Amino acid sequence: MSELVSPAPLQAADSDEPVSKLDLLGFTRTQFEALLEANGEQRWRAPQIMKWLHHRYVDDFEAMTDISKAFRLKLAEVAEIHEPEIISEHKSIDGTRKWLMKARSGSAFETVFIPEGPRGTLCVSSQVGCVLDCSFCSTGKQGFNSNLSAGEIVGQVRIAQRILSTEYPDRRRAVTNVVMMGMGEPLLNLDNVLPAVEIMMDDLGYGISKRKVTISTAGVVPGIERLCETTDASLAISLHAPNDELRNQLVPLNRKYPIAELLAVCRKYAKNLGDKRTVTVEYTLIDGINDHLEHADQLIVLLRDFPCKINLIPFNPFPGSGYKTPKPQRVRAFQEKLVAAEYATMVRTTRGQDIQAACGQLVGEVADKTRRQEKYQRIAAGVVA
Ligand code: SAH
Repeated sequence: MSELVSPAPLQAADSDEPVSKLDLLGFTRTQFEALLEANGEQRWRAPQIMKWLHHRYVDDFEAMTDISKAFRLKLAEVAEIHEPEIISEHKSIDGTRKWLMKARSGSAFETVFIPEGPRGTLCVSSQVGCVLDCSFCSTGKQGFNSNLSAGEIVGQVRIAQRILSTEYPDRRRAVTNVVMMGMGEPLLNLDNVLPAVEIMMDDLGYGISKRKVTISTAGVVPGIERLCETTDASLAISLHAPNDELRNQLVPLNRKYPIAELLAVCRKYAKNLGDKRTVTVEYTLIDGINDHLEHADQLIVLLRDFPCKINLIPFNPFPGSGYKTPKPQRVRAFQEKLVAAEYATMVRTTRGQDIQAACGQLVGEVADKTRRQEKYQRIAAGVVA
């Protein structure tokens, strides 16, 4: 990601204009190396700084005792270690935890930790709000405020990992998996998501295996093209419908990038995954909308020759959605059809519903820059838009 490297030597701004400081939590190893070199320091010091940041969680340059005093002072002047601030925390009876965090923009977004046996999955946000407006997702109803920076994305992992390591010194609970399935569309913020994912997977960052870091997308085809060139993280696509007519209604982005184009670019990305891994297809089951057995039949035909695993997510309700969750037997029947056709198909259990932490329930506090929040509030209140 050399395009993001600023080779300029560090120097204090000489004007009175407020300058934004370098956001070090979002710096990849390569970026640190370039920064060190440009400042007459040795590249091999990059691991030292990264360990201070991501393994020892320091927030003060003074603490970096193996870095020269002069460079520490320089860093303190022009760079910062900025984590999003935790506004509140909610704990579910099932152990799921949700943090509301403050973005630089002032709006708030959510991060969810889901413990499951030895596994701990962190559901990370990439944006405050979302522009896509999928009909069944409450984040979309909040409108959009801003992209999160690479540091704010990595910061979510750092915060969760630090809290868990303090509470469980035996590491019984830790972030073992990351899914970019919180608020936002990661592929509309790739300049920040790509370095963030690289840091999550780097041993000097969080050392999470590429299998266990999943980028999820509603189907931004040019974004997946870019992934083909830049990463080998796991990929999930939010399909939700087996034909364009239905998908156009549920995921408006489908009008721009229809299913055939989406599957074609995913096939290309599958090459980055090697032989043992496949793309995950996510399918939110909505009662009476996309959960008929004929939809399962269509899906079987559509995904023939497309190696994948399928995750079925029973719709998680939120006020004013107008949709219902299918009965468990309906979900089972849909799953059984896919399994009979030899698709590896899991039903994702709903977690953290009592604290509104389930898929599609994350809302944060979005100072909306579109007028969508207002529109949906009017609809929810029964006033015609
Ligand atoms: N924009 C990305 C990531 C965020 S959504 C994407 O679309 O993939 C993460 C997953 O939760 C997606 O599969 C999404 O479609 C699903 N989801 C959204 N709202 C939901 C709801 N109300 N119930 C169940 N799943 C939902």
